[in-house]
Amino acid sequence: MTDHARVRLFTPGPLNTSDAVRDAMQRDIGSRDMEFVRIVRGIRTDLLAIAGVGDEFTAVPMQGSGTFAVEAAIGSLIPPDGKLLVLANGAYGRRMIAIAQRLGIETINMESPETEPNDPASVKSCLAAHPDITHVAAVHCETTTGILNLIAEIGAVVAAAGRSFLVDAMSSFGGIAVDAAGWKIDCLISSANKCLEGVPGIAFAIVRTASLESSRGQARSVSLDLAAQWDELERSGQFRFTPPTHVILALAAALEMLVREGGIAAREKRYREYQRMLLSGMNAMGFQTVLPQELQSPIITAFHFPADPRFDFEEFHRRLAERGLVIYPGKLSRKPSFRIGTIGQLTPQDFADLLEGMRASLDAMGLTLPLSRTAEA
Ligand SMILES: *Cc1c(COP(=O)(O)O)cnc(C)c1O
Repeated sequence: MTDHARVRLFTPGPLNTSDAVRDAMQRDIGSRDMEFVRIVRGIRTDLLAIAGVGDEFTAVPMQGSGTFAVEAAIGSLIPPDGKLLVLANGAYGRRMIAIAQRLGIETINMESPETEPNDPASVKSCLAAHPDITHVAAVHCETTTGILNLIAEIGAVVAAAGRSFLVDAMSSFGGIAVDAAGWKIDCLISSANKCLEGVPGIAFAIVRTASLESSRGQARSVSLDLAAQWDELERSGQFRFTPPTHVILALAAALEMLVREGGIAAREKRYREYQRMLLSGMNAMGFQTVLPQELQSPIITAFHFPADPRFDFEEFHRRLAERGLVIYPGKLSRKPSFRIGTIGQLTPQDFADLLEGMRASLDAMGLTLPLSRTAEA
């Protein structure tokens, strides 16, 4: 095998994977091979267990990155005369609005500030005012800031009003416990390459079978048809179109690694420890987080740019990358920010190296520590 220098990815995915996950991809397997069919069935069962749901739900894998599964869910589950309420407080909520609008689905946008969780009371009054809303979509961990939305509270409101609830749990699934049934979720969407620590190329929806059954034939796309995908997987155990076989082998290995680690609770604890190290080091340098700690998920943390005009993010990013340390640009619509992911196969030493790299890069740019007050844009 080629010996590549290990790059440390402090990003929300793709992220650093274990040797076992990468090794699992070192073989070819036929997509109609009985062993492959068994592996796919095993993955679907494991995903239901991670979501904490029984057989009133089913897991439907979908080729592509996470957005493909979001588009498949929105385009398949909402009937032609349906109406979708999207709760957005960041880029991923806004992406769902874009998807729904492009698909010609009647959509109501409920946008709230990026530093505030979606408000369940506003959802309640909106549903009362619009009896024609059939579905509500929200993001669990909005990766734009790392904020955690109040999915349990919103789910209770949506279910009480008799509507259907779709949740983008892309960046939280596997890293934070989700209770899909208890939170009244009808469809939860995530992908292999975030907290499950697999590689990119496959995503999935965990859906109530009743919702899938009633959605047959209404998908707005041939390939992104969730019900058709489900029917074929149930009928033959196979995908309708070529599955990313190596990626799926890697996902099976990743799910095994999650169990071996001790499940979601152990993984969340590890991510929280990374974040604690990161925050204590960056706070000492004078960086300020975008969110107050009580709204912050352990997945990813957004930081304001320092006020000092000598701070140049491109250069900061480049200097860190030269040391094999990859950080993530910001996605906030207003203030300049950048993000550090705390998920994936990283070690405490990686965080020590990151903090050391930051200090050296700031020094090379002529900034003195601790940094002065945050820029107000
Ligand atoms: C990563 C992510 C997605 C999907 O992004 P892809 O690039 O398509 O994998 C969707 N929603 C959230 C909240 C995410 O973090």
